[in-house]
Amino acid sequence: MNKLSIIDKKLRGIRDEIVDCRKCPLHKNRTLPVIGQGSHQAEIMLVSEAPGYWEDQKGEPFVGAAGGVLNELLDFVGIKREEVYICNILKCRPPQNRNPQKDEIAACVPYLEKQIRIIRPKLIGSLGNYATAYLLEKFGLSDKIQGISKIHGQVFEARADFGPIKIIPLYHPAVAVYNERMKETLKNDFQILNER
Ligand code: URA
Repeated sequence: MNKLSIIDKKLRGIRDEIVDCRKCPLHKNRTLPVIGQGSHQAEIMLVSEAPGYWEDQKGEPFVGAAGGVLNELLDFVGIKREEVYICNILKCRPPQNRNPQKDEIAACVPYLEKQIRIIRPKLIGSLGNYATAYLLEKFGLSDKIQGISKIHGQVFEARADFGPIKIIPLYHPAVAVYNERMKETLKNDFQILNER
């Protein structure tokens, strides 16, 4: 079996685990879990918070209004959506899109950790406060955790068990749905994704 088929097989294994997951109550009200989407050999991973209404309906990340902004940002910096891997900390939608709870995050992150270990990205863009705090902590950078308005656009270098990795905190694209000024900030920050 070649390298890509092994990666595909491992990711399919995770998909099956998530489909059957009963580790927290969120599976009870979901329509579809949102596992992840994109290249299985991506150099760039984008990790966000949790599926919203449309993501839950379609089983795909960022297909609602925030997804429109994300597509525009990737387009602006010349990165094809299919060449990155996009996923969330929580694979199931929290009711009324409320914030993820600590026990839900603890139950769900082993899936994200496996996704990162299989895909082996060079860089992870963390979208919003939850993904940023989680990833900085995971990679031994807890002392760098601050609100996203303070650390967006900075590059944090860390070591994963498969090699060096950069964590780049970014605002969540939803902040720019109704605010053009935030879109400019996001456009500036997204250019850093090209510096890998
Ligand atoms: N917001 C998120 O955090 N993730 C998605 O997949 C969509 C919207």
